[in-house]
Amino acid sequence: MKAWILITMLLMGCGSAESKSYVDSAIMPYYKVYIKEKQERLGKEAKYIPVAFKSLKSPTIGVCYNYSSGKRQIYLDPSFWFSGTDSDRESLLFHELGHCDLNLGHENPSSIMEPNILSSFFYNEHRDYLLNELFGLVSLVDLYTTTATKTNTNSIELICGGIKEINDEIDN
Ligand SMILES: [Zn+2]
Repeated sequence: MKAWILITMLLMGCGSAESKSYVDSAIMPYYKVYIKEKQERLGKEAKYIPVAFKSLKSPTIGVCYNYSSGKRQIYLDPSFWFSGTDSDRESLLFHELGHCDLNLGHENPSSIMEPNILSSFFYNEHRDYLLNELFGLVSLVDLYTTTATKTNTNSIELICGGIKEINDEIDN
């Protein structure tokens, strides 16, 4: 019991186990684009995953929480979000939805599921292909053999905290 209380306090202390039930209104337009892109490619609805802002420990700017109850939750760092470009926001949100909605882990360099943010230039140039790859319709190898662009220039390292397993929801 003592250990349990300590763990609970630690979780509350760093705020990692708070859960929210909504998609933040600033994020919703991008979330709707994801729903549309998934529907067009897979003919499937996206799961409803709450997405909220929370200041994350640098350099992490996004994380997907996977609660033992089965609930999932995405947190995005507000300072990155509000200073980033449209494509920075979209690729970050789509990356976290790749974890929380599509159950993907971290993947090859220059895919949406690589743990670094893709440069806006690279993302915009290959957006359709990168989304097809995210949804499992094509392989990245094809992108490299059909275009001259093989490298993605990142300015930010390690953006994503990956999927964090959370034992219980403390606050719901
Ligand atoms: Zn990730």
